Amino acid sequence: MSASPVVTRFAPSPTGFLHLGGARTALFNWLYARRHGGRFLLRIEDTDRVRSTQPAIDAILSGLRWLGLDWDGEAVFQFERAGRHAAVAAQMIERGDAYRCWMTAAQIDEQRAAAKAANQPLRIRSPWRERDDGPADQPFVVRLKAPREGATTIDDQVQGPVTVQHAELDDLVLLRSDGTPTYMLAVVVDDQDMGVTHVIRGDDHLNNAFRQLPIIRAMDWPEPVYAHVPMIHGADGGKLSKRHGAVGVEAYRDELGILPEALDNYLLRLGWGHGDAEIISRAEATQWFDLAAVGKAPSRFDLKKLENLNGHYLREAGDGRLAALVAARLGMADDPALDLIERAMPALKPRAANLGELADAARFLFAERPLPIEADAAPLLDGDARGTLARAHAALDAVGRWDTEALEAAVRAVAQVAGLKLGEVAQPLRVALTGRRTSPGIFDVLALLGRAESLGRIADQMEEPAR
Ligand code: GLU
Repeated sequence: MSASPVVTRFAPSPTGFLHLGGARTALFNWLYARRHGGRFLLRIEDTDRVRSTQPAIDAILSGLRWLGLDWDGEAVFQFERAGRHAAVAAQMIERGDAYRCWMTAAQIDEQRAAAKAANQPLRIRSPWRERDDGPADQPFVVRLKAPREGATTIDDQVQGPVTVQHAELDDLVLLRSDGTPTYMLAVVVDDQDMGVTHVIRGDDHLNNAFRQLPIIRAMDWPEPVYAHVPMIHGADGGKLSKRHGAVGVEAYRDELGILPEALDNYLLRLGWGHGDAEIISRAEATQWFDLAAVGKAPSRFDLKKLENLNGHYLREAGDGRLAALVAARLGMADDPALDLIERAMPALKPRAANLGELADAARFLFAERPLPIEADAAPLLDGDARGTLARAHAALDAVGRWDTEALEAAVRAVAQVAGLKLGEVAQPLRVALTGRRTSPGIFDVLALLGRAESLGRIADQMEEPAR
């Protein structure tokens, strides 16, 4: 372990929901800090006043909380620190590492056109780099005096060593003409002031690292360790975006009914591995996580795998917790409903891959008589089946204690007497009791519904409905 305590941070721009890629970045930062007994900080990069919104901030905070990614201390809001950013720019001018630049839009356009004609990327060469006698009453920006000789190599913990020639860098803007800081300056100053030791972020920021390091070096600040994590791609190999389906964490929670521990486990495994382990608890992840095992290649998002993991975590989850989640989905939050769903949960949860399916499977508990029969189940209630229902009704009506054992004995006896297989009795019962072809085990269904409701639902289907 390094001598200085590890400090990581997650630095989202609040311009939309918490993206899956962002959630994974946050998770990696959280795990790295926890693994090393360090601190995990949160900084909201809200300097873009037009695109930053309060709903986006709320979505990010609630998404992180839902995923169990608690941050240390208060979240830092970057915009509030604009004065400090400007002060650093002023210090850099004083030290000779930045300069005021009065280039006009026309001059910049000229360089852009020349670069285009020469088929070169635009690298601003400002005439003000070495002089400070510009027109005092005219607007200026502050530019970094970037090194032009030599090269910088970053020993990236994920990408390996990456080198950029300084000749490829330009004198980027630190302060705009209205005095507001640019992203490049703000990130560096904030990381320094927050004591960040490890910058773990998406590899779309790798190029930025080479622009940020000269600022850090100019200020004689300690250089962080960098780890640039590959992006998440969709099944077709393109960068994960809306066209691949949901990309916001809250959609996985609200629409797809994923449990947070399942999403955490999935995101962790997406691009990081520990031997063959697929199911990895938070405690294990905190012990095992390291940057060396983060893959260099982009990983592909696979909803099926996520749902498999989710099914696992649903089966592990406490029945009371699941009942509350399901009740909320069904809009049935009163105590008797919660209690019934909780009692049904052991029978419901082995089949479900998400909370939506779980809620759907629980719906029969609250259906009102006479039950609507789903279209694909209706053909199962033919004349023979209705006759079987009548026999089952008589047998069940005679049951003493309404428990699964007695119910099973009664239904088996009906089958035996009628010379039918158990399934030939169970299936019409299932349709009558739930309105569907699939449900938990029929004895569980009978027990959960209780005597009066079960017998009522069966009686409702014993006769062909009048047309
Ligand atoms: N705010 C940047 C983003 O959301 C991240 C900056 C960083 O991690 O350095 O992409």
